[in-house]
Amino acid sequence: MLYLDNSATTKIHPEVLEAMMPYLQEEYGNPSSKFYSLAENAKKAVAKAREQVATLLGCDPDEVVFTSGATESNNMIIKGIADYYGREAGANNRLLTTKVEHPSVIETFNFLGERGYNVSFLDVDQYARVGVEQVKEAAAKMQPLLTSIMWGNNEIGSLNPIEELAKVFEENRQFFHTDATQVIGKVPVDMSKMPGLRFLSMSGHKIGGPKGVGAAIIRKQSKEIYTRLTPLMHGGGQENNYRSGTLAVHNIVGLGKAAEVAETNLENNVQRLKELENYLTDIFKKNLTGKVKFNSDEQDKIPGLISLQFIGVNNELLIKKLSAYIALSSGSACSSSKPSHVLNAAGKSLEEVRQTIRITLDSKIDESDLKVFDKIK
Ligand code: PLP
Repeated sequence: MLYLDNSATTKIHPEVLEAMMPYLQEEYGNPSSKFYSLAENAKKAVAKAREQVATLLGCDPDEVVFTSGATESNNMIIKGIADYYGREAGANNRLLTTKVEHPSVIETFNFLGERGYNVSFLDVDQYARVGVEQVKEAAAKMQPLLTSIMWGNNEIGSLNPIEELAKVFEENRQFFHTDATQVIGKVPVDMSKMPGLRFLSMSGHKIGGPKGVGAAIIRKQSKEIYTRLTPLMHGGGQENNYRSGTLAVHNIVGLGKAAEVAETNLENNVQRLKELENYLTDIFKKNLTGKVKFNSDEQDKIPGLISLQFIGVNNELLIKKLSAYIALSSGSACSSSKPSHVLNAAGKSLEEVRQTIRITLDSKIDESDLKVFDKIK
């Protein structure tokens, strides 16, 4: 099976699995327990993972909150800020996002909208991106409490100008969050250079880590002052009171190792993904002139993600037909029963949406694996 759905999830990295195994076997202590070695070992392992994630993202270790994944991180940050600052009558309850976010952001906004928050969704360009001036104007006009804009889009691969947007939010001192789930290990992320970017979400299973773990980065207001938000989970006060519940040590260790691998391999990974992507797009361009149409801006997108239309071909039928040999996607794995809200917002017709295939590569693939596409004429 040729697996080309790496934006949906990735195979666990061998080094990650190796790092996790002791914490599923002999090292089973609860890091919240005290004094005996099993607990202390678990605590040390969690602290190491926190360092690894912080190093990858350029933040302080105590700004890393372990969660069950990016869905939870998005919910935690958006609902947490909305509730903490915007719940009281007369408070600023305005929240801004885009029309092409992952459902874990869109549905969180809808949930808050139904509860009386003032939510707005920005339009996007033909590649599902927002512009700096557009966001600047909207933020000046609306004065949102929080703006949430994804770094890289999971369906079409387009990148938003997060560094520049962080400057806008640094100047206007409004809260800014990005869902960076799809760009980790593919785009350099250094939050220390972006003080305007206060919150970030990421997930383990998109970067060779295990499923069921992720991180929410909640930057401090200053060296000593933590940013307050209402937690989703109340209980024993783990994770600095942001997220109660016994820590999933094995998963956290896996996330830490995956972060380290992503950091170490970033340049090679990007270079290899671009080579493979060029190889494959050249095949499509050579063999299928006039029969395929690319949805993304080829110069400015997540390396290794190709979103394209096979003109006149139903995507689901094609994916099913190839499914014995190749794993492909029509867009996202989360909402595959609904026509894509992303392509729709990018101005694609229903027909174009139904012709769209998403191919997401992995740097370990070989060109010879991709030769099968040369047979499609
Ligand atoms: N955000 C984006 C952009 C995604 O692509 C995904 C997963 O598809 C998520 C959030 C959700 O991540 P998780 O599976 O860790 O909840």
